[in-house]
Amino acid sequence: VFWDGAQDHQVLLQRCRSCGYMWHPPGPRCPRCRLVEWEWRPATGKGSVYTYTVLRYAAHSAFAESVPYNVALVELVEGPRILSTIRRCPLSGLRVALAVDLAFEEAVDGFVFPVFVPQSKQE
Ligand SMILES: [Zn+2]
Repeated sequence: VFWDGAQDHQVLLQRCRSCGYMWHPPGPRCPRCRLVEWEWRPATGKGSVYTYTVLRYAAHSAFAESVPYNVALVELVEGPRILSTIRRCPLSGLRVALAVDLAFEEAVDGFVFPVFVPQSKQE
């Protein structure tokens, strides 16, 4: 379902119907109160870089033209962290806590996957 949402340009998070906690990656029950009553909710797409690493080889053909590239763990404002990549950002501009917005990229085979770009307003 997470990837189905990406095809519609949404990142879906699980949200507990009881306590409102949102989490990712998907799990069968609320990590906080253990309830199994939850629903899919779209994320706002706002977040910040929690940690990142720079790779100098292509792990997927879709990235072959953009080596070196970064793999970043982005913490969404809702709390969950998503493994993704930061686009439109020089490697020297990458840093922890960088504010980013969700964007979507389409691979040559039509597969849409979520990426993040720096928020236009920087301090
Ligand atoms: Zn809960």
